Amino acid sequence: MQRKPRVIVIGAGIGGIAAAAALRKLGVEVAVYERASDLGEVGAGVQLGPNGVKVLHALGLDPTLEGLAFEPTEIVSVDWQTASQRFRQPLKAIATKKFGAPYLTAHRADLHRLLRAKVPDSVITLNARCTGVSSSDRGAVATFADGSTADADLIVGADGIRSVVRECLFGAAPARFTEQIGWRAILPIELVPTRVGPDKSVRIERTEYVGWIGPVGHVICYPIRGGNLYNMFVGRVSSEWAEESWTAPSNKEEMLTAFAGWNEALLGMLSNVQHVFKWGIYDRDPLTHWTRGRVTLLGDAAHPMMPTLAQGASITLEDAYTFARNVARFANDPVAALKAYESERIDRARRVQLQARDQFNNNRKQPAPPPLSRDWIFQHDATVEPMALAG
Ligand SMILES: Cc1cc2nc3c(=O)[nH]c(=O)nc-3n(C[C@H](O)[C@H](O)[C@H](O)COP(=O)(O)OP(=O)(O)OC[C@H]3O[C@@H](n4cnc5c(N)ncnc54)[C@H](O)[C@@H]3O)c2cc1C
Repeated sequence: MQRKPRVIVIGAGIGGIAAAAALRKLGVEVAVYERASDLGEVGAGVQLGPNGVKVLHALGLDPTLEGLAFEPTEIVSVDWQTASQRFRQPLKAIATKKFGAPYLTAHRADLHRLLRAKVPDSVITLNARCTGVSSSDRGAVATFADGSTADADLIVGADGIRSVVRECLFGAAPARFTEQIGWRAILPIELVPTRVGPDKSVRIERTEYVGWIGPVGHVICYPIRGGNLYNMFVGRVSSEWAEESWTAPSNKEEMLTAFAGWNEALLGMLSNVQHVFKWGIYDRDPLTHWTRGRVTLLGDAAHPMMPTLAQGASITLEDAYTFARNVARFANDPVAALKAYESERIDRARRVQLQARDQFNNNRKQPAPPPLSRDWIFQHDATVEPMALAG
């Protein structure tokens, strides 16, 4: 007789909550443990490729209809000083037709809230900082900072870039500072100018995804929250070390000084932002395994990647659904479930991680070549069992 497996998820970020939502949808019992004391309004914009949106749809979520996300009309790349166009590609008109789902942009907090609607509060324990995990033939155990423990048939570490679970399984993964730092800032959409360039001759729409590309930095802008807010990722080459953190506050002056000489309209937008967060961009080599016994990893814990392909959240959503699908499929054999999950995911995630690194290196070339194609990434549908397994 089939026994329902019990799963512990460490971390209630995007991947942890998505995994819990998918597990519940597929009838698997789950408990989530999160170190934070609340799951509030943190973060800024995240991009969701069609591959990530397919997972949301499979969970019964439609961020566009709920007014949380935005579907940019075009991708436009402009010169850092003159705003002259480097290239332009349609997005809204082609994404669903070509890839089966739209390309969306959202506030991380909105995406998180949307996913949380599928997971009752009773499933999530806050103030629970995991300090260790262990696995035996009979089950897996998580230990927390207050000395308490929890056990289950399997554990998945969805505890982000500085994963404790990853460290427990495979030791500390050395992070390399890429000599790029980024600021994240948000602006009300009304403050976004539509006429830019030296004589205001260049028109930019507030519905577009715009990249300002310069020799030592780039600024990526897109609408979020149903088009009411404008998210700005402000990246710059810098040998000055910065923390690998999503919550380190910075200040406008520091950001403006780093971008002195850039286009006036762009600087105008940057000087209008209220809160600025700063982080150092780090890189790690892909892991060769994600699983030991009854414990595995997903999301940034498994494959922290540079933001250059904007795939961190989407690949994490794919992991979450694939994990749940395999746990449900191998309900009587948790170890087989994790093997199947890892073998479905690890090569794909590694390829995306390495392409993000290649894209980063390309961005630093003069002149920067056009972006590497992400079509193969967007086409994937993690909600469907691979052909070799199906049927
Ligand atoms: C506060 C915050 C703000 C972010 N803002 C942005 C943003 O603006 N733009 C963007 O592109 N990406 C942002 N990210 C990262 C983005 O969510 C991830 O890169 C991506 O979605 C992968 O998700 P994840 O679930 O693997 O990791 P995350 O979404 O980072 O979630 C990891 C979760 O694990 C928890 N955790 C960590 N260690 C432990 C522990 N020992 N025990 C228990 N819980 C633990 C963390 O508190 C967090 O809730 C942010 C992440 C965080 C945590």
